[in-house]
Amino acid sequence: MSAPSGLRPALDEIVLAGPRGFCAGVERAIEVVERALDVVGGPIYVRREIVHNRHVVEALREKGAIFVEELDEVPAGATVIFSAHGISPAVRDDARARGLRVIDATCPLVTKVHVEAQRYAREGYTIVLVGHEDHDEVIGTTGEAPERIMVIESVEEAERLEGENPEKVAYLTQTTLSVDDTRAIIEVLRRRFPAIVGPSKDDICYATQNRQAAVKKLAAGVDLVLVLGAANSSNANRLREVAAALGTRAHLINDVRDIKSEWLEGVARVGVTAGASTPEFLVREVVAYLSSHTSPAVRELNVVEEDVRFGLPHELLEIARPSVRRLAASSPSS
Ligand code: SF4
Repeated sequence: MSAPSGLRPALDEIVLAGPRGFCAGVERAIEVVERALDVVGGPIYVRREIVHNRHVVEALREKGAIFVEELDEVPAGATVIFSAHGISPAVRDDARARGLRVIDATCPLVTKVHVEAQRYAREGYTIVLVGHEDHDEVIGTTGEAPERIMVIESVEEAERLEGENPEKVAYLTQTTLSVDDTRAIIEVLRRRFPAIVGPSKDDICYATQNRQAAVKKLAAGVDLVLVLGAANSSNANRLREVAAALGTRAHLINDVRDIKSEWLEGVARVGVTAGASTPEFLVREVVAYLSSHTSPAVRELNVVEEDVRFGLPHELLEIARPSVRRLAASSPSS
């Protein structure tokens, strides 16, 4: 992949944030598509981007996955995978009505928010969902109880909320928000609705929290932060904002080709991080480009080790079982 030309040789150090890149939910979703391509006879359809990164989507498309926006593009009886961001119950019902075989790659931490929404709705609460209205995850969660859920994304909106029974308000949050901004919004909600209930902390997932903690530490010690991630990736956008909020110049880039040489003028230390849906090879390409004119030191700045893994969806395991049995039966006995 070619990189922009004109890099100034002033760079002393590249600092890589850790953790960065793929989270457990994204790794699982990609594995779901890859395994499905192996074990399911016939085409594999994926509704929407499996994760918000076009490099990931393109790689899976090359392996044979067919990406669609809506279920009416999937032939009756075919297999469809739902993305890591989750879906509303209406989409699940639609899939059933169309006779589709479903494999659900929704991240378990998103499913947890859906379950909370179902419970609060059942118990008669009005649910304030803090998140971005047009994000797939929020659309999916809202679909659990559209008549009970109100989406807000700012302190100002929290201040303006009206007409609720103050004794029956609950809040939930999207999994990939800014930890700091969300805390401020929840503080307003707690002041305005003292009886409000919500999850024990908030729903922001471990991967979002860890990547934001890492970019904060990173941004404090570099002149420029490059965040690898897609423009429609919520968690990648938040990483750029968190770095910029500390007064450090920060840019969100899809890949190395987006780097502008003028960003690097007079820059001695560059920090690099990546959103939870960004493959590591894109980070390596950026490091190679930044190292192409000088020989800066490359250092890892790790704030926490992650060892989270999620099991594969039961639907996939059910489909895979016969082929595993066939494989076992055809193996020579020892
Ligand atoms: S960012 Fe968090 S909620 Fe989203 S897929 Fe990754 S682990 Fe799951």
